[in-house]
Amino acid sequence: MEIRFLGTGGGRFTTMFQKRFTGGFRIDGFDNYIHLDPGPGALLLSNQLGLSPIVLNAIVLSHAHPDHYTDVEPLIEAMTKAGTRDRGVLLSSKSGVETIDGYGPVISKYHRDMAGDVKVLDNDLVFELKNKVKIKSFKVHHSDPSSCGVRVETPNGDIGYTGDTTYFDKLPNKLKGVRVLIMNVTRPLNSDINYHLSTNEAIKLISKVQPEIAIMTHFGYNMLESGVEEQACIVQGETDVDTIAAEDFMKVVVEKEIKTTKRQSKLIDFKAI
Ligand SMILES: [Zn+2]
Ligand SMILES: [Zn+2]
Repeated sequence: MEIRFLGTGGGRFTTMFQKRFTGGFRIDGFDNYIHLDPGPGALLLSNQLGLSPIVLNAIVLSHAHPDHYTDVEPLIEAMTKAGTRDRGVLLSSKSGVETIDGYGPVISKYHRDMAGDVKVLDNDLVFELKNKVKIKSFKVHHSDPSSCGVRVETPNGDIGYTGDTTYFDKLPNKLKGVRVLIMNVTRPLNSDINYHLSTNEAIKLISKVQPEIAIMTHFGYNMLESGVEEQACIVQGETDVDTIAAEDFMKVVVEKEIKTTKRQSKLIDFKAI
């Protein structure tokens, strides 16, 4: 099983200048191909990295902000071969499929109808994919009130994903026992803001969850300015848990051991052009 980051940026400014890419991440394993939070660039980068979007059987949308949802529709088209086959599931926050507090629906009815199945993420939704892989969702605290995080249960252990959220007391319980904890840490040390995780809150969360490996991603502009490697070092020092600042195109192989490979991409570095 493999996790591949098609971007590690988050927030408005990182996204608008593509300081880091914003294509979300893929979990491929046990004959499942899941794309989570495909923001701007997800379709392009999938193709450039050789991760064909046509094999997808699930797309997860945690909430209705553009750094998470913009490429959901073209990926639904890929998943269903332009609507010619009844395949795949869209697992979406309520705001993806209807209006809630001024958010959404960000996915058109045309595309919702095209997906093989649509499920609305909520507290304790469980959706079974192939070969004993399950996606479980839980509500988190973000400006879109229907925002959710997910836990992907697999025969090789669980992967937890916070989505965008602030820390709240029940969050560690939802993620307890995961081997890999992926956190959207938008803000650096000592700069907490509402609705997002900061380095301080990541420390709190990791200390309680105790995963085998913690991965920080979805970096906002200030976080990048602060140096994400340094922030990850601080977290590891405080928690004693292996903590990595994700890099665009980073690959994480989850088998008996968990191995991380950075800079393995054959993608043309068009940022340098
Ligand atoms: Zn975001
Ligand atoms: Zn957000």
